[in-house]
Amino acid sequence: MIAIAKLRKTFDKLEILKGINLNIEEGQVVVIIGPSGSGKTTLLRCMNLLEYPSEGTLRIGTTQIDFHAGLKPKQMNVLALRRQTGMVFQANNLFPHMNALENVMEAQVTVQKKSKEAASIRALELLKMVGLEEKAATFPHQLSGGQQQRVGIARAMAPQPKLLLFDEPTSALDPELVGEVLKVIKKLATEGITMVIVTHEMKFASEVADRIIFLDNGQIVEEGTPDQVFKHPTQERTRLFLSHLH
Ligand code: ADP
Repeated sequence: MIAIAKLRKTFDKLEILKGINLNIEEGQVVVIIGPSGSGKTTLLRCMNLLEYPSEGTLRIGTTQIDFHAGLKPKQMNVLALRRQTGMVFQANNLFPHMNALENVMEAQVTVQKKSKEAASIRALELLKMVGLEEKAATFPHQLSGGQQQRVGIARAMAPQPKLLLFDEPTSALDPELVGEVLKVIKKLATEGITMVIVTHEMKFASEVADRIIFLDNGQIVEEGTPDQVFKHPTQERTRLFLSHLH
């Protein structure tokens, strides 16, 4: 369902992603791990075109874009591709002047052109799914960091994207709030939602992932099931990275 081929990204003449090839089946959960600065966030941002790849091909569902240096992709294709992805960011990215319900309604009304009534019904269902139905009328600053992230997940899912992207969704949280967010993500995984997750939570990664991708220096160095990558890594760089975590 998702195909990334020969994807490269250059910032200021520095190549950050050096030819990424990655195919993801519908319903798969892919976790990206790797050292800081290896390009994990850049890869995610290229997948929903918050950054344009410099070279390569990106296909999500039926929308495919070929990138060539210096050439801007067609706006129509960019919008079509963005509509198929939802993103959950590191720290709270909610609209501060909207309550939880309105945050989850927003894209449905402005992008999908749904009626407010239909949007609010779906928003309430999604808030229920993340366990925050009773916080519908609460504003972001009155929510804990963990609750804000759960609203962020509901908001990302609202337009029914084909692919959900998570950029270190718990890294800005106090340790006691991490569990509730990971629990929600695990629940989505069991419901067959296709996800790509960047995280440093290795225990969570091994529990939730169908596939682990180890990214180092802008390249996929190793990939496989959690068991393969965590317990039987074949590459020295993977072993070194994992050994530093303990
Ligand atoms: P990771 O998520 O693995 O920590 P990032 O994708 O955030 O890595 O960053 C990879 C490299 O790309 C870093 O060296 C970072 O400084 C650089 N980088 C990321 N975004 C930009 C940008 N907008 N402009 C210039 N350099 C960037």
